[in-house]
Amino acid sequence: MNILITGGAGFIGSHLCKRFVQRNDYVICVDNFITGSKENIKELLGSPRFILVDHDISTPLYREEDLDWVLHFASIASPKHYLELPIKTLKSGLLGTHNCLGIAKEKGAKFLLASTSEVYGDPGIHPQCEEYNGNVSITGPRSCYDESKRGAEALTYAYLRQHNLGVRVVRIFNTYGPLMQADDGRVVSNFIVQALKGHDLTIYGDGEQTRSFCYIDDLTRGILKIIQIDYALPLNLGNPCEFKIIDLAQIILKLTKSKSKLKFLPLPEDDPKKRCPDIGKVKTLLGWQPEVGLEDGLAKTIEYFRARLKKGYID
Ligand code: NAD
Ligand code: UDP
Repeated sequence: MNILITGGAGFIGSHLCKRFVQRNDYVICVDNFITGSKENIKELLGSPRFILVDHDISTPLYREEDLDWVLHFASIASPKHYLELPIKTLKSGLLGTHNCLGIAKEKGAKFLLASTSEVYGDPGIHPQCEEYNGNVSITGPRSCYDESKRGAEALTYAYLRQHNLGVRVVRIFNTYGPLMQADDGRVVSNFIVQALKGHDLTIYGDGEQTRSFCYIDDLTRGILKIIQIDYALPLNLGNPCEFKIIDLAQIILKLTKSKSKLKFLPLPEDDPKKRCPDIGKVKTLLGWQPEVGLEDGLAKTIEYFRARLKKGYID
């Protein structure tokens, strides 16, 4: 297949590029490197099955190649970065999705949107199933990300209804693993790097808020399955094992054998109190469920960051 992946030099996108190239697909990776890095895809750069296009997907993109799939993963995706760059975040979610849908329609390709558990906002039901319409602040600091993804989903279904485009919408829950950026402020990378450096682990609020963490290999396996079935409605993809942030900190201290202390900082505005996917639909439709437990996944991620620190790639 010929697959165009936006955000292909980012954390999830680069893992996907590698999976597709390994199974002999052709990949066109589109990225503007605002948060991604060439380092993530360096082993693909010489491959005849891989093309890298440096382009901001908020502006239209024209390609000569035939395409089977357009996978839209480009987004400013971590709270730290989208709070700094709210307008660019909205543009990659809304204009970027529109441009990707336009490419898919022009090429007769199918389209997959990387959506997010953030469409559920600070959820009023637990765990979150796909039918839940969410509790998102329209005007709050996280709205640039949450509403860009909700708008992106609306655009996707407009193309399905008006142009009968083949679409998939994957609502991804917190995912972690090697190739995460060390400095994008997400909890797993922050805690691991802090623990390895012997710095205090920064707990926002009292640490009683929960997240459910999915290892990257489980996530990419799920995405590969989703493009094989004919199902257009949104699908949650994540690991339903739920942890308090304070417990995550203790697990990381144990696995790294770090003597770091915990430091409590204010909870960011609109930080969701609970998050856990209901994965009943993907289990039934795909026979998919996560296979990597938190401690195993964290151990691999810790090794990755330990090696990066040793090589001096992390300040
Ligand atoms: P990431 O920041 O590592 O990757 C995003 C990539 O998109 C980066 O390479 C960045 O340079 C690129 N990009 C951003 N704006 C762009 C633009 N306008 N044009 C071209 N490229 C652009 O983030 P990630 O964690 O890999 O997230 C990938 C996708 O998955 C995002 O759409 C994100 O919203 C979604 N997602 C991720 C998670 C998670 O836990 N990692 C959870 C839910 C949803
Ligand atoms: N968090 C924290 N310390 C950090 C980074 C994050 O306590 O150094 C908390 C954050 O407030 C949130 C959770 O960890 O409750 C997950 O944050 P992240 O930015 O990874 O993703 P989110 O799920 O909020 O998008």
